Amino acid sequence: MADGSTPLAFSAAVEAATSPIWDKVKARVTPLEWRLQAPLIAAINDLKRQKNAVILAHNYMTPEIFHGVGDFVGDSLGLAREAARSDAAIIVQAGVLFMAETSKVLCPDKTVLIPDPLAGCSLAASITGADVRLIRQRHPGLPIVAYVNTTAEVKAEVDICCTSANAVQVVEQIAREWGVSRVVLLPDEFLARNVARQTDIGIVAWQGRCEVHERFDAADIAELRAAYPGADILAHPECPTEVLEASDFAGSTAAMTDYVMHRKPRQVVLITECSMADNVACDAPETEFIRPCNLCPHMKRISLENIYEALLHDRYEVTVDADIADRARLAVQRMIDLPPPAAPARYDLVKARHHVDVELI
Ligand code: SF4
Repeated sequence: MADGSTPLAFSAAVEAATSPIWDKVKARVTPLEWRLQAPLIAAINDLKRQKNAVILAHNYMTPEIFHGVGDFVGDSLGLAREAARSDAAIIVQAGVLFMAETSKVLCPDKTVLIPDPLAGCSLAASITGADVRLIRQRHPGLPIVAYVNTTAEVKAEVDICCTSANAVQVVEQIAREWGVSRVVLLPDEFLARNVARQTDIGIVAWQGRCEVHERFDAADIAELRAAYPGADILAHPECPTEVLEASDFAGSTAAMTDYVMHRKPRQVVLITECSMADNVACDAPETEFIRPCNLCPHMKRISLENIYEALLHDRYEVTVDADIADRARLAVQRMIDLPPPAAPARYDLVKARHHVDVELI
């Protein structure tokens, strides 16, 4: 182990404790890998029980984390809701730092741990609280909506948060409440452009990008169509608009999962981070997943090893300044208090070709 202690061994007890997980992930994990992973999974699950801890695992975690140790799994919105409801003493965020900050903001009395404090995000790094204050000066009277992929410092400056699953709902709701026809939506330019095409509300956007989704383009989709003519192509709304337009469906990670589980396509391509397909594939063995892989280097900093070390040594604790946390909580809680959508939101690609009004700052 990283702390110099004896390596955990693959024993009969470990094999018995982890066999239901192995059944789920064995299409994605080799037997050799499993002999290394299973002891860590068993040890992590034991530590969780001993310490009254839960692990929130994002859709972009690798399958041995997502299916092996995640107590709550899903997208940012789902994890934020679970963080708020949890009565565990310790939350381990198997995700990136802004997610752990959100958990801390919602659960100030709990210990929130992140296995690697360097797990950042290109979107969250694209904007600061000072930037938001300048935007408010430039656009007095407009509500400001922040994607949850932002730091607590940024959330503290905005009026409400959103995720890709509820961004259209949030923009329309806050515009109604404020009696305005334009809303600032930051920091993801592509998400803002894609939301602007779903609504008559004008959008003021920031030029942040997700380094995973911005790399897809329409030529990628054309190549996939030529190579796999029968495959359904599903794109995440952090991708450029041309990618959504060339795809068969666009929606959040929750909407993509819902699409695969309910429609059961023979072949599918998920235009998003690589591990998402691996995780859904474990639950959808009848579907063949084509993988145009773009890995998130930040998400991939989280491993079974550093989750184990985090629980064992109670590290790395995430803290948020109390004043920032109080203000950020209002913005996140306003989002959480909205009625949950009846089904994960999909981005309407037909309507999307008719309306767009984005002002870039
Ligand atoms: S996938 Fe994109 S938005 Fe998500 S953490 Fe990685 S860089 Fe940030």
